Amino acid sequence: MGAFVRWIQKTMMSKKARCPKEEYWIELVRLMLDGQTTDEENAYVLKHVDGCYRCYDNFDLEKAIREALKNKLINIKVSDAFIAEINRKAKA
Ligand SMILES: [Zn+2]
Repeated sequence: MGAFVRWIQKTMMSKKARCPKEEYWIELVRLMLDGQTTDEENAYVLKHVDGCYRCYDNFDLEKAIREALKNKLINIKVSDAFIAEINRKAKA
């Protein structure tokens, strides 16, 4: 049902849709992606992310950043421009 709820939020609320606790959730998402949370905490975060368009977007972005950095570490060509672009979007 998550994808459906996100679609509704995206469609009905446009890009102005904000999560009332976005900062709180993004911190938890970062901790989770860095492997610093328990399975129980992951389930708690994912439950919110799955139903919240804003947080799902943030979650996707944080994941992309980590994947880009990981790829860079194992020496697959990820340009600095690409990393900079992701970082710029993260701050937008
Ligand atoms: Zn949210």
